[in-house]
Amino acid sequence: MTQNPNSLDNPRARKTELSAEAAAALEDIYRRVDKEVSGSGVECWLRGDCCNFEKVDHTLFASSLEIGYVKEKHPAPFPSGSILCPFWEEGLCVERERRPLGCRTYFCDGNYSQQLQAIYEKYHAEIRKLAERFELPYSYEPFVAALRTGNDPA
Ligand code: SF4
Repeated sequence: MTQNPNSLDNPRARKTELSAEAAAALEDIYRRVDKEVSGSGVECWLRGDCCNFEKVDHTLFASSLEIGYVKEKHPAPFPSGSILCPFWEEGLCVERERRPLGCRTYFCDGNYSQQLQAIYEKYHAEIRKLAERFELPYSYEPFVAALRTGNDPA
């Protein structure tokens, strides 16, 4: 018998849900990331280019834990068939609160790329440890595709 991936009897479906404690720990990481990024001096040029995946040759990856955090607020899958992030509207992000680490550390100004990469790696390691601590499955995958297929990351 095939198990319904969305069924509450499916342990994998349950395991990708974040507990309130895990969500709070992730939010704490994001607060520290934003503080470090802000302290680096990098500025957003408000061009909207960083999320224009049709224009820039960039695939945004995120951890399953972060994707689970976004899906908690947006459980219904977004329509497939586009490489654009469903939260990118008229050049602006409409989900800044839950946007993943990769969005928080990606800026147009190449002068900061090494500094931002170091911040990314430091906190990516923390997120990975968080998944271990809360015994959540861990994977690293294209963010937009994960939102547009509705498949649970694992
Ligand atoms: S979540 Fe926001 S910042 Fe990240 S790719 Fe989507 S629109 Fe851009």
